[in-house]
Amino acid sequence: MSAPAGDTIAAIATPPGRGGVGIVRISGPGAAGIARSALGRVPEPRMATLATFRDPQGQPVDQGLALFFPGPRSYTGEDLLEFQGHGGPVVMDRVLTACLGHGCRLARPGEFTQRAFLNDRMDLAQAEAVADLIDAGSAAAARGALRTLEGALSRRTEALAEALTVLRSHVEAALDFPEEELDLLADTAVGDRLEHLREELQQLLEGAGQGRLLQEGAHLVIAGRPNAGKSSLLNRLADRETAIVTAIPGTTRDVLREHLSLDGLPLHLVDTAGLHASEDPVEQEGMRRAWTEMERADVILLVVDATAGEGEAEAAIRARLDPALPVITLLNKIDRLPDPPREYGEDRIPISALTGEGMDRLKARIRDLLHYHGKEEGLFTARRRHLDALERMQTHLEAARGHLQAGVAPELLAEELRLAQEALGEITGRVTNEDLLGRIFADFCIGK
Ligand code: GDP
Repeated sequence: MSAPAGDTIAAIATPPGRGGVGIVRISGPGAAGIARSALGRVPEPRMATLATFRDPQGQPVDQGLALFFPGPRSYTGEDLLEFQGHGGPVVMDRVLTACLGHGCRLARPGEFTQRAFLNDRMDLAQAEAVADLIDAGSAAAARGALRTLEGALSRRTEALAEALTVLRSHVEAALDFPEEELDLLADTAVGDRLEHLREELQQLLEGAGQGRLLQEGAHLVIAGRPNAGKSSLLNRLADRETAIVTAIPGTTRDVLREHLSLDGLPLHLVDTAGLHASEDPVEQEGMRRAWTEMERADVILLVVDATAGEGEAEAAIRARLDPALPVITLLNKIDRLPDPPREYGEDRIPISALTGEGMDRLKARIRDLLHYHGKEEGLFTARRRHLDALERMQTHLEAARGHLQAGVAPELLAEELRLAQEALGEITGRVTNEDLLGRIFADFCIGK
């Protein structure tokens, strides 16, 4: 694969607004020509060169540093020109317009990185890590994304792919020499290799699962009836006054969100509208949204007013929840109980959103349920897409194992292994399609 030749792109790489420096990037076969027209010469490769940037009429537009990276040893793998000028929106816009006048077109979001991928400067998992690093929601997520960019996920994926290739060549040999077929399938080496592969995959799946949490953050939904103390809990966990806390039932009519981090793990906390029977259409809409949120939650925090106890409202909420979803019941307002409960189960925790009591226990339990132990060492970010691919690979390996154990149909075994390899190939982009690429790079910012 390679980027279409003859197409030169330009974009402002720095965020809009005023700043000390603003950068315009130009990539493609026309980059050197644009340097000659706009700067009067092509800067020495990889040397910062002070230059005046001129429009096609020869009028100066800005003065700054120009850098030229000849392909293929550049970010995109193509000739790349970077102009670091003054970071004002008008100046940057004029530089960009001048570039277009010199003969290039506006880059689409993520197009520089997409070209880097198409020119084999990085694989797909690394390209995604570029966006994840820019969007990182915590310092730990940023470090994780950098590890993925440096190849932590890609290397492990490639190692699995290599082991799978060896196994496949064994099995395919059995197909090519049918007279020896049974022998080869009975050969314990094939079984051992498959077992080893399954173990390695399991480990990678665990790492990638943690990585996805780190990249996306976990979704926590706070549910409970009005006035149980949901908004207060949200504020307590977020340590910030975001939700409007009032003593009037039903104030949280919409869904409130808060982003915070739990030992580096980004958390998206959602406070749902009080779930209870109501005729009010606004409240009904709020409740509809609350249920939608709950369907995509990783953990539900069910807040109960301990002074009132659990009742029908809580039972109704529980009845509607997916039984597979972990629910932590929080007995709130224990500061108001004359004899607060001392005993607690791991998923039944007495708290006070007012005083902060029980919060440490709650946080520890959340970490447990998410299998996140704040041991950040070696953690790399991964995406849902990567996990899906690994899970599909797992399914095919299981099927392959079944065929191997049955010992009768080596072509089915071979086919499952081929499918496993295809699934794995999607992670680094060895196997890909236009649709997937379009979706991945559309999420990037322009100029990256
Ligand atoms: P929500 O409707 O579930 O979001 O409930 P709020 O967070 O708005 O709280 C309802 C009322 O209960 C407010 O007056 C809060 O100050 C009070 N409240 C919440 N948590 C506690 C708590 O732990 N202890 C006490 N004493 N009051 C609380």
